Amino acid sequence: MESIVVLGGGLAAASVVSELRERGYTGALSLVSEETELPYERPPLSKGFLQGKEEPADFTVHDASWYASHDVALRLGVAAISIETAKRQVLLADGSALDYDQLVLATGSRASLGGGTPMPGYDLPGVHVLRTLADAKSLRAELAEGAQVAVVGSGWIGMEVAATARQRGARVTVYSPSEIPLAKVFGERLGNHLLELHQSNGVDVRTARVQGIEEVDGHLQVLSDAGSSRADLVLLAIGALPNLQLAETAGLQVDSGVVVDASLRSSDARILAVGDIAQAFNTALRRQLRVEHWDNAIRQGKLAAATLAGEEGSYDWLPYFFTDQFDLGMEYVGHGSPEDTTVVRGDMESGEFLMFWQDGLKITAAANINIWDANDTLRGLVGREIAADRLSDPAIELKDL
Ligand SMILES: Cc1cc2nc3c(=O)[nH]c(=O)nc-3n(C[C@H](O)[C@H](O)[C@H](O)COP(=O)(O)OP(=O)(O)OC[C@H]3O[C@@H](n4cnc5c(N)ncnc54)[C@H](O)[C@@H]3O)c2cc1C
Repeated sequence: MESIVVLGGGLAAASVVSELRERGYTGALSLVSEETELPYERPPLSKGFLQGKEEPADFTVHDASWYASHDVALRLGVAAISIETAKRQVLLADGSALDYDQLVLATGSRASLGGGTPMPGYDLPGVHVLRTLADAKSLRAELAEGAQVAVVGSGWIGMEVAATARQRGARVTVYSPSEIPLAKVFGERLGNHLLELHQSNGVDVRTARVQGIEEVDGHLQVLSDAGSSRADLVLLAIGALPNLQLAETAGLQVDSGVVVDASLRSSDARILAVGDIAQAFNTALRRQLRVEHWDNAIRQGKLAAATLAGEEGSYDWLPYFFTDQFDLGMEYVGHGSPEDTTVVRGDMESGEFLMFWQDGLKITAAANINIWDANDTLRGLVGREIAADRLSDPAIELKDL
């Protein structure tokens, strides 16, 4: 009987096993995860769960009975430590081994603790990262009203946690390495909009590089190039690093992620990679791309299952992500550059608008901010060439552009 082993316990892994069974795969199927929880979705960790509005059952992909009834052998709480490609075997940290005919790597990312060396003070009590449910539980437990929270980093997770912490009545300082958070991703226009949103909700956003955290007389002290400030709780939100070690030691081709083709096969034809660790060839963008988003984990999981079933699919899905911060809900589709020109459709002041990114006339990306049911139409516009004055003209319906 054929045997497929999936390494990882996140959304991408769950998506692979769900789709395989959905497609009628009846061979042996195992999922190995270092985490003790059943696979769950991570976006609520910085939003609904941290706000106290959602609980793990709300974002667990399938309950235990689903895996039992679909004959998926779960190996939770145990890490895979190496892949013996010649023997087609995976060694696990508990000393056991799993044979495979086909293997899927879905080992995702971990929170960065700093560049080459961890940031001084990263392991002090009260200093957190946010990647797992366990991280979110300990952060939620300490996120008290009135607490002084320091968020180091102004990427997605930092800004989302800053918003949630304010909503929970904490005093929040964000240490941003750049003057305008997220400008490196979106350019200054949307970055400034997000900055103003946070400032008007009482977040103190400082342009400063944090050098370390110290414990002084029983409280934390954040040391930055703009001085030192006291904090009750610190979140290090300084990026995520793909878990590539297994792939590297197995001799797979690795660049910024595991290099896979458009059907998600790695340099070893029996091994696929999906989700945050996969640097896949995107046929719509005609380039290799590694994407750290929820939607990508689901879709690549499905495509990997199709490839395992012998189909000749290819990954042509434009990157998509969403975020929620205060009263701003946003969806983004495409792959824009901060150097692209931007066009706004609607009124930024009102908080409800669309934004387009353009390289010349070509639309590279688009976002809907507090306007819903527009993202599918925006997806259809990405890649097209449309004059800016038409894009911004409210008299022309979006679908008629
Ligand atoms: C707090 C937070 C908020 C987010 N919010 C959003 C959002 O709003 N919108 C959005 O689009 N995206 C968001 N994301 C990103 C999104 O969650 C990720 O892109 C997605 O989780 C990737 O799924 P994955 O399965 O590839 O990897 P992961 O979710 O990282 O899962 C990898 C799994 O593999 C396990 N693993 C690693 N190494 C081994 C090993 N050697 N052996 C066994 N198991 C191993 C890990 O323990 C983990 O269970 C957020 C992420 C976080 C952390």
